Amino acid sequence: MPELPEVEIVKQSLNKIVKFKTISKVIVNNRNLRFKIPKNFEKSLKKKKITKIFRKSKYVIFQINFEQYLIMHLGMSGTIHMSDKGNKKNTNISFYHGRDLPEKHNHLIFFFDKFKVIYNDPRRFGFVKIMKSKDELIKYFSKLGPEPLGNKFNTNYLKQKFNKSIKNIKNSLLDQNLVSGIGNIYASEILFRSKINPLKKVENLTLSEIRKIISKTKFVLSHAINKGGSSIRDFKNVSGFKGNYQKEFMAYSRENYLCLNRGCESKIIKININNRATYYCKNCQK
Ligand SMILES: [Zn+2]
Repeated sequence: MPELPEVEIVKQSLNKIVKFKTISKVIVNNRNLRFKIPKNFEKSLKKKKITKIFRKSKYVIFQINFEQYLIMHLGMSGTIHMSDKGNKKNTNISFYHGRDLPEKHNHLIFFFDKFKVIYNDPRRFGFVKIMKSKDELIKYFSKLGPEPLGNKFNTNYLKQKFNKSIKNIKNSLLDQNLVSGIGNIYASEILFRSKINPLKKVENLTLSEIRKIISKTKFVLSHAINKGGSSIRDFKNVSGFKGNYQKEFMAYSRENYLCLNRGCESKIIKININNRATYYCKNCQK
C-alpha cells in the first residue's frame, strides 16, 4: 500500500514529467474506482495545462490551468506509469512495483504531446476527483491533521491532543485527523525506533516519549523519501525498479527475526491492533 514516502516519490516523478505540459486527451477505461468517475471528467481536463503538482497527506494534487485541481489517491494498489510514443515498454514511476502491469487494470490514460501517463489499479481502491476551486480543495482536506513532516506536528501539539485521548499510540498514529499520512508500515517503524510499546495508552506517554515520537516520525519518513528518491533519479532510463526502503525496515514484516537493537536477544512479534498487523519488540518497547 502506498504510504506518504511513496506518494511523495510519485509526486516528484510527475513533477519532472508533466509540469507545464498540456493534456491532449484523457481516456477512462473503467469508471468504477472507489468513487465513480463522472461523465464530464475527460472533457474537463482536455487541452488543459498542468501548472503545479503537490502532495497533501497521501494525495497527489494537480493544479489545472490555475483554477481547477485534480486530486488522485492511489488506494491499496494504484501505480502510475509513463509510456513514450513508439515505445512499448512502460516506466513505472511509483518506484516499488515491477513494470509489468496487466493492461486490463489501466483505468485512466492521460495523453500528452509525446507520451502518456497511465493510472493502473488492480484492486480499484484508488480514486480521482476534480475540485473546481481552491476553496473546494481546502474544504475537502479541512479535517486532515497536520503533515508529519511539517512544523505544526510538534511536541506541544501532540501533548495537547494526547491529554484528551484514551487511545493507544499505534491507533493514534494512524488517525488521519491527528496527523495525516502515517500508514501501517511506518507506524511500526516509528514506534520501534522510539522504543515505545504500540499498545501504550497515549495519556500515559511522558514528554520525552512524545518528543521521541515526533523526531523518529520525521526521521523515518524523510529517510524513506531519500531512499526512494535516490532510486528514481534516473527514472526515465529505468524500466521498473524497487525502492530501497524495505531493506531498512527494523520491525515491519520481521516477525520471528531477532530484534536489531544491540544487546537485545528477543524476537520481533506480530500482533493485530484494530485488525492491522503490528510488529514490535517486547523487550525494547515499553
Ligand atoms: Zn529488542
